Amino acid sequence: MIVPGSTIGILGGGQLGRMLAMAAIQLGYRCIAYTPEKDHVVGDVCHDVFQNKWDDAAAMAAFAQKCDVITWEFENVPVEPIQPMTERLAPHPRALETAQDRLAEKRFVEQLRGRAAPHASVETRADLEEAVERIGTPGILKTRRDGYDGKGQWPLDSAHDVEGLSMPAAPCVYEGKVEFDAEFSVILVRGRDGEVRFWDSSCNTHEDGMLVSSVLPAPASVTRHVAEAREIAKQTADALNYVGVLTLEFFATRQGPVFNEMAPRVHNSGHWTIEGAATSQFENHIRAICGLPLGDTRTIAPRVEMENIVGKQSYTAHERLSDGLVHLHLYGKARAREGRKMGHLTRLGWDEAQA
Ligand code: AMP
Repeated sequence: MIVPGSTIGILGGGQLGRMLAMAAIQLGYRCIAYTPEKDHVVGDVCHDVFQNKWDDAAAMAAFAQKCDVITWEFENVPVEPIQPMTERLAPHPRALETAQDRLAEKRFVEQLRGRAAPHASVETRADLEEAVERIGTPGILKTRRDGYDGKGQWPLDSAHDVEGLSMPAAPCVYEGKVEFDAEFSVILVRGRDGEVRFWDSSCNTHEDGMLVSSVLPAPASVTRHVAEAREIAKQTADALNYVGVLTLEFFATRQGPVFNEMAPRVHNSGHWTIEGAATSQFENHIRAICGLPLGDTRTIAPRVEMENIVGKQSYTAHERLSDGLVHLHLYGKARAREGRKMGHLTRLGWDEAQA
């Protein structure tokens, strides 16, 4: 067990790291972070921030030496530089390796008999033409690595679109567009002893590839698929001997849950758990990696709504506090660039229960 008072290292400097550190501080831990970003948002809540490149082996070693356990908040941390700290890492970097590659994660889940969208590996225009012919359109060409929030994606509405496309330089995957009734995620926490707990699955809405909102309770179009999706998520976590919070995103379709992608970390669609669940995803991640007992994951309000605050919406977000059921989280980002996640708010719908 990593006892309170010990130091937790966090790889990455974004809002997920900030909220992980806040949960860790509450439990009496100290956090230090490692990030190449100058405008990180972990400085307010971490004892120290190593602002160094991922491939700076000396800085990595100095950072690791100060940590009793190390985790990540950023899914694209390069795996090679963190190999020397594997013994202190939780989850194990094999989870990063799998989740960083859209093709590898689909194959991984398919081996466990999960369903993924029809897909093909694409390196050349000829591969793409073949994939479009086999899978059909509409579809989406995605880079295998480094894509997030809809970045590194090119929708193709017809085979004609292939001609006009300037091929990305990186290896890609072409996916058939899935017709879904709704989107949802399964978020679980797995302890060092293999115990698994799930949060309720929210119904997630995306725009331009980015999460806009998560709402609970989810409609029947989602809940009827949750048991099957949980089974796939649990098998994934067990197969990776995973420790911490793991997220799998699914499309709810008439054929059952279709796996989209996994995130080996706390997830935006789980931000509602801070106020809406007995124990948040952030606290349970810290409990899991430190070997503490896991907290209860039940939803504690009859209705929970999480909305992301993006770009300039952050300037007026405080006005939403006139509704006393709203909790506001702003991440302390200096520049409200368009499309940048600046914060989120969670509304607990106690009044709906009274009505
Ligand atoms: P991703 O970055 O792969 O999670 O994609 C972001 C969002 O784009 C998803 O949450 C969906 O709303 C949409 N999307 C991605 N891939 C597909 C697909 N194969 N079929 C339908 N919608 C998709």
